[in-house]
Amino acid sequence: MTKKLPFTLEQAKTWRETFPTPFYIYDEAGIRLCVERLKRAFAWNPGFREYFAVKATPNPTILRLLSSLGCGTDCASAPEVEMSVRCGIRGDGIMFSSNETTEREYRAAVEAGAIINLDDITQIDILERACGVPETVCCRYNPGEFAIANDIMGHQYDSKFGMTKPQLFEALALLRSKGARRFGVHAMMTSNSLDTDYYPTLARELFLLALEIREKIGITLSFIDLSGGLGIPYLPEEQPLDIGAVGEGVRRAYDELLAANGITLSLYTELGRYITGPYGWLLTSAIGEKHIYKDYVGVDASASDLMRPAMYGAYHHITVLGKEALPPAGTVDVVGSLCENNDKFAVDRPLPKVEAGDILVIHDAGAHGHSMGYNYNGRLRCAELLLTQAGEVRMIRRAETMADYFATLDVDPEFPL
Ligand SMILES: *Cc1c(COP(=O)(O)O)cnc(C)c1O
Repeated sequence: MTKKLPFTLEQAKTWRETFPTPFYIYDEAGIRLCVERLKRAFAWNPGFREYFAVKATPNPTILRLLSSLGCGTDCASAPEVEMSVRCGIRGDGIMFSSNETTEREYRAAVEAGAIINLDDITQIDILERACGVPETVCCRYNPGEFAIANDIMGHQYDSKFGMTKPQLFEALALLRSKGARRFGVHAMMTSNSLDTDYYPTLARELFLLALEIREKIGITLSFIDLSGGLGIPYLPEEQPLDIGAVGEGVRRAYDELLAANGITLSLYTELGRYITGPYGWLLTSAIGEKHIYKDYVGVDASASDLMRPAMYGAYHHITVLGKEALPPAGTVDVVGSLCENNDKFAVDRPLPKVEAGDILVIHDAGAHGHSMGYNYNGRLRCAELLLTQAGEVRMIRRAETMADYFATLDVDPEFPL
């Protein structure tokens, strides 16, 4: 299967005249469709809401677009909360799912009216000292072990997140004694899962937990947050998740365990990758070829623009724009310019012959792409563009400049040493 693009070589060449490569471009139409499909899949649940994981694509234009479609934001830091507020998102439109949180961060989140999702029982003290226990709170659960169809799916014993079951019960009761009145439970067991059963299995586990919480401590949960973790097909031979089937699977568990036992609650998701991942691309120009013990293609982007391949060995599909139909001319490593040998977007990748100036498109870069960028080797972070539904291109983040790079430094020659 070839990966489709919502733009052509001619368009990309025109954009490059105004916005030098590398840059990211996001597809508004694709993101809209994705959110609409998600909402349809969970339309049966009263109060269903997606809280977009801001860390995936922290851009105000993207957040405003998602907000217009009814999404809230999932934040983990004061700046992410601030970005949400500046985009008009506040109150229960913000889920604050942080960990190792300081009083200052709790104050910022509570000031914005965010729902606080506590990662640990010891955080209750910190929250209380910071600003008191709010009326609505959520607790993050770590079941220790999590299986799909008898397949252990990532042991959670070495995961730093969440509370054990006894801690969760104790935390909920403690929060109630300190004035909380509405409660939720959150759990995230995986990331980038293409398994249709992941959400239904997680939901079943959390619904059983909700029944146990009601029975043991008399608290009826108001919401359950299934968090993020739904995957996207990075490999061309992978198929996208059938989100309708995911929603149906969760509905069956809900009917069987909650509705049948007289519980009505809202379901929340905190998807990041699933919402924007496939609808963002990193465009980069080829510098040239290099042939030593292996064959290389050098490009003007580097791991500082997209670190997933260097950090996780993640696969990102690459298209040489305009040469989609050509057969591979050999296998190459596609490399950036950092003084680090892991600065490779692809290793031993079959590609057609690449010439200097060719535009390479790195696919599925819309989430955890630009947001993980950094300034190593004095590389400046690149621009982000939006391809609007109307087919226009808008710059939604300019590229960093030399002045930005020096803004936090003191280079005053009079500075006494
Ligand atoms: C990272 C994260 C998400 C989003 O994860 P995706 O893999 O992008 O769906 C959601 N919630 C929390 C708490 C996270 O840490």
